Amino acid sequence: MADRGGVCALMANWFLRGVRQGVVTTAYPRHVDLSSADLPVPPTFDAGRLESERAARLVAICPSSALSVEALDLVLDVGRCTGCQRCLPLAGDAGRSSASFEWASRDREALRIHFPLGASS
Ligand code: SF4
Repeated sequence: MADRGGVCALMANWFLRGVRQGVVTTAYPRHVDLSSADLPVPPTFDAGRLESERAARLVAICPSSALSVEALDLVLDVGRCTGCQRCLPLAGDAGRSSASFEWASRDREALRIHFPLGASS
């Protein structure tokens, strides 16, 4: 098989680098991995600042259908969220990155986060 673009040489260099330097990793989970702040993670919302009109627009802009409005709550399904953060500019001061990637759960319902809509809705 032909070596297109020097992939074999690149892999060989990475292999040699790994052998020379040993295992390069972080201290996670014993210590917080500061690089997690740069990861694409689900958002979080300030429930008191969300009104129903803005919640409806957030639902409409989410490409993975991770957001829905149920009764008087905005519901974020973390199991569907890709962390694209497309919703954050629209959320304004009512939304921000959760800065958390530790969402694993055996309980599907635990991944559905409810944010009660504000009194102004
Ligand atoms: S980050 Fe992306 S996928 Fe997640 S709720 Fe916002 S728009 Fe939807």
